[in-house]
Amino acid sequence: MLTANEPNRKSWIEVESNSDFPIQNIPFGVFIPTDDFTTIGTRIGNTAIDLSALHQLGYFSEIEELPEDVFLQDTLNDFITLGRPMWRKVRNRVADIFDSTNGELKNNTAHKEQILFDVAEVQMLLPVFTQDYTDFYSSMEHAMNVGIMFRGKENALMPNWKHLPVGYHGRSSSIIVSGEDFHRPVGQMKPADAEVPVFGPSKLLDFELEMGFITTDGKHLGDRITTDEAEDYIFGMVLVNDWSARDIQAWEYVPLGPFLGKNFATSISPWVVTLDALEPYRTESPAQDPTPLPYLQTSGKRTFDIEIDAFIEPENSVESKICTSNFKYLYWNISQQLAHHTVNGCNINAGDLMASGTISGPEEANYGSLLELSWRGAKTIKLDGGEERKFLQDGDSLIMRGHCNNGTTRIGFGEVRAKVLPAKE
Ligand code: CA
Repeated sequence: MLTANEPNRKSWIEVESNSDFPIQNIPFGVFIPTDDFTTIGTRIGNTAIDLSALHQLGYFSEIEELPEDVFLQDTLNDFITLGRPMWRKVRNRVADIFDSTNGELKNNTAHKEQILFDVAEVQMLLPVFTQDYTDFYSSMEHAMNVGIMFRGKENALMPNWKHLPVGYHGRSSSIIVSGEDFHRPVGQMKPADAEVPVFGPSKLLDFELEMGFITTDGKHLGDRITTDEAEDYIFGMVLVNDWSARDIQAWEYVPLGPFLGKNFATSISPWVVTLDALEPYRTESPAQDPTPLPYLQTSGKRTFDIEIDAFIEPENSVESKICTSNFKYLYWNISQQLAHHTVNGCNINAGDLMASGTISGPEEANYGSLLELSWRGAKTIKLDGGEERKFLQDGDSLIMRGHCNNGTTRIGFGEVRAKVLPAKE
């Protein structure tokens, strides 16, 4: 039972009405509290909650199987490995402890001092240790736009695209948490008018509006996960900005796909929102024609209505919204992605990140990259502070925020943010 999701539930912790973190969310993350050790935690409103302190003080004693040190970790991996029934028990118990009708912690000032922190005063860390990062390419609108730009309208979608969720293996060592800035990559590229490749800082630095799901341990090598089983192997989701250097990418990608144009940085949001918390926001995926092969077929509502907005904030200027997309636009859902990933017997581990690919929608305002918004540099994007952009400049921060709202409750992911620093000499 998902008692944590009860829409009428209120917390004794103050929560603003438009907060991404009402008591119905209860995401999981890792942080360093003020002058203390790294802990696993959750968040209600603007209050970070130290779950290891809660556990040590006996608030989870009714969950006997919960290991003593499971929250005294610097990643969520061990907790994720415990599996969905345990994630559920912990979320339900946290909701119970912080329910407005429950006085056990509310009335204990000494305990509250050890457990509760202002989110502005804690340092968020990467939530998981990711052994493997996979990036799909599951938005038809994005694949069409890129295809039209590079191959023309007739050959926009590759022949395989509607038959399988195309993906590639990314780089996990350069996954960074929101707030960590990075330097503009340098590399080799070949401008259209150049005879030979040139070397230098990327001139066409872009973001990619994506979301990713984080898995738990899968089956043994050789065994597949079916579409019906897939959601049991998915812990939750984060916002993903899959930074891309378009000029490096364009020159290097043939024939093996993305490499140095992608692997210099991938930013993720720090709070993992569980699939259980997303349950009230389920929705239908776009119709699939042709019908996929049996191993990829799903029925019912297998995706989620999550609005995602992206913003550019130039140095010393104001933030401007540049697009609004939605997770529900994806042609391939997460169950299909995971079933396809493992159909050949490929194994997965707790903490693996599988990103959606750039999520674009039907309208220009829904395009999830500057490549599409500027149509490969042919258009200029005007920002609210008077600046103009085709691609990202040094000092620009790119921010993505995502939330769900079904008219009854609203939960969200917070933000993923990073600033582009100048290329290193
Ligand atoms: Ca991508």
